[in-house]
Amino acid sequence: MNLILMGLPGAGKGTQAEQISETYGIPHISTGDMFRLAIKEGTELGKKAKSFMDQGALVPDEVTIGIVKDRLKKDDCQNGFLLDGFPRTIAQAEALNVLLDEMDNQIDHVIHISVPEEKLVERLSGRRVCPTCGRAYHVLYNPPVKEGICDSDGTELVQRDDDKPETVANRLSVNVEQTQPLLDFYKAKGDLVTINGDRAIDQVFSDIKKHL
Ligand code: AMP
Repeated sequence: MNLILMGLPGAGKGTQAEQISETYGIPHISTGDMFRLAIKEGTELGKKAKSFMDQGALVPDEVTIGIVKDRLKKDDCQNGFLLDGFPRTIAQAEALNVLLDEMDNQIDHVIHISVPEEKLVERLSGRRVCPTCGRAYHVLYNPPVKEGICDSDGTELVQRDDDKPETVANRLSVNVEQTQPLLDFYKAKGDLVTINGDRAIDQVFSDIKKHL
């Protein structure tokens, strides 16, 4: 099963992706996580991505498409994959189609998690993440058992640089502009399902499962 998860930053993609990946046994491929790891490890890719990410801008298509190509060719993607945060542009969506065609494969479902924009600022500014395992929390809506500490591995939680107030507004407006053409693209292909993400995590997941 090959899936794409779409939605604005803060819509809950990462949280739902974790559950989908576990339930269906397919890898969760987040381009944002791949870039953050590259920055942490100080690789060439990380150096290229950092200046764009710090401004809340998109990393150039050729860089992003390249890392996804390499990732989808790995063995663990043979039974399917879940893309989170990719594609973000029509050029990326078209490149993905070409790549999947070459691999004699296709996208099965595009799940769009929809949350009203005004709720997203609040969600993003309260988000905290584990720098070790990537798990995301919210200080009010999805707090860890022990304040500021990851339930999974005990690491101290941090706020992502691009979740800070000065970046959030720009990041959201860049995303709103970019997302609509992609939703239209997948709607025209008949692959798109929109799920109401403005509900409890379990309710959203239950709807996704019903669809899949
Ligand atoms: P995310 O974790 O998905 O919100 O991504 C964080 C940041 O990584 C974005 O604001 C972009 O700078 C970069 N990024 C992630 N995925 C992509 C993509 N598909 N195309 C371009 N830039 C991306």
